[in-house]
Amino acid sequence: MPTFDPDLDIPRASAQNPYGESVAEYQRVLANPLPAVVGLVGAWAVLCYSLRVRNLPLFLIALILTALCPFLIQYHCLDCGRTDFAFRSRRHACAETLRRWRLGEPATRKPPRLRTQVKAWIWSLFVAVLIYAILAGGGR
Ligand SMILES: [Zn+2]
Repeated sequence: MPTFDPDLDIPRASAQNPYGESVAEYQRVLANPLPAVVGLVGAWAVLCYSLRVRNLPLFLIALILTALCPFLIQYHCLDCGRTDFAFRSRRHACAETLRRWRLGEPATRKPPRLRTQVKAWIWSLFVAVLIYAILAGGGR
């Protein structure tokens, strides 16, 4: 016997409305990669310094910092204004999101999925770094 009551309980990521859809499909969230980019710049600085002074523990710390940077990506909910880490975005269910989810009402002016936004930001960052490398390296 299921114990989940869609009118009283906050849905889990696997919970589905009567139309068979999860809460995540009704969220209106924007990706914010700025903390991760700042962390990446800091990790890059530590990496460069560790190579200059030839310090292996510092080099390993820089690699670990680089690996942790994706966890710093944040989301911002357009309905309630909450900002949190992106890896917890599928659990976010504010009142407006729950209302749309229960009624099966699609959100108006819904941005692309969070994963799509993060991919777009990563490609934008890659292209920006590539253009910078071409323009900065062109004078040699
Ligand atoms: Zn919200």
